Amino acid sequence: MTAPRARKLGRVRTLVVKVGTGLVTDPGLGAAPGRIEALAAGIAAVREGRRVVLVTSGAIATGMARLGLAERPRGIPDKQAAAAVGQSVLMWHYEAAFRRHGIAVGQVLLTAQDIGDRARYLNAKNTLAALLRFGVLPIVNENDTVAVEEIKVGDNDNLSALVASLLDADLLVLLTDVDGLYTDDPAVNARARKLDTVDEVTDDITRLARDRADGASVGGMATKLQAAKKAAAAGVPMIIASGREPGVLERLLAGAPVGTYFAPKADRLAARKRWIAFAVAPQGRLTVDAGARAALTQHGRSLLPSGVVDVEGDFASGEVVAVLERAGGREFARGVVNFDAAELRKIRGVKTRDIEARLGYRSFDEVIHRDNLVIL
Ligand code: GLU
Repeated sequence: MTAPRARKLGRVRTLVVKVGTGLVTDPGLGAAPGRIEALAAGIAAVREGRRVVLVTSGAIATGMARLGLAERPRGIPDKQAAAAVGQSVLMWHYEAAFRRHGIAVGQVLLTAQDIGDRARYLNAKNTLAALLRFGVLPIVNENDTVAVEEIKVGDNDNLSALVASLLDADLLVLLTDVDGLYTDDPAVNARARKLDTVDEVTDDITRLARDRADGASVGGMATKLQAAKKAAAAGVPMIIASGREPGVLERLLAGAPVGTYFAPKADRLAARKRWIAFAVAPQGRLTVDAGARAALTQHGRSLLPSGVVDVEGDFASGEVVAVLERAGGREFARGVVNFDAAELRKIRGVKTRDIEARLGYRSFDEVIHRDNLVIL
């Protein structure tokens, strides 16, 4: 084990564990009580002196079994109905399994909007903190029953990274059916090797994620690597490990070289910037000129109206927008705007001292203040 990994894992106080559908359900049968009990025992064994949050998938698969559906429903309302049924069955199993260890559980269902809206985000954070203060194990899932596809986080790998960031967790563990990230598919390539540590999720690493989506699970390696990027930016180390290995949590917290370890970034983004970068879907797009781009990326400046070339979308002031280098170009930054879209259309390209004349009132000097701007 690399020294940084040992150092990080020696001090885990807040731990987020995510379990995949394949782990807590059996195809066609729904919730798998034996594996849920093993998971509860594994979590109970590492909870002493730690705050633990569980993120669970499996609601839809469990609901499908309970409703006797052989195939994953295609229609959104049908999927939502399956989630509604499955979520309560799943929680029933968790309640029974954790009760045996004297642990009370609390169900927390989040939507992308709960995370994307700053006030709701802070509210969710306070609720989780209160549950942890009561000694409760929060069990989180996406609120599939009300969230439609377009506005969903969509998979619990990314959701768990957002939760880990929200809680400033010390470690995120994704428990799944495989014991880590491999250089190739071990089922077809005998020389495939498991990576012990990933220092950075580069494009080469992303290419290793060949998705083999099956009927029940949403994510695969691709969403796990997206989660790793979010966690790294938040300064949270992440481990992908096999949830089928008994005592896996205890072993990895004791420093055993279990799974694949994803190192966090040394220069973690501040909490508010993490929210800007990852939690919200941008409500509009600003194209800026080359000078503004350099000012933002190289000199840490704020975005001024003079650098704005084009304004797309219909957003209010205080919302998050994407910043592009040229129309249709790559998004290189994201930030909270001080003006709404209509105001910005009036002042784009204008010198700061002329803002008042254009708008007819005094307002901000910056379009996006650098404290509210994240370079991606
Ligand atoms: N929220 C979904 C469920 O509970 C699972 C999403 C995922 O597998 O990532 O069924």
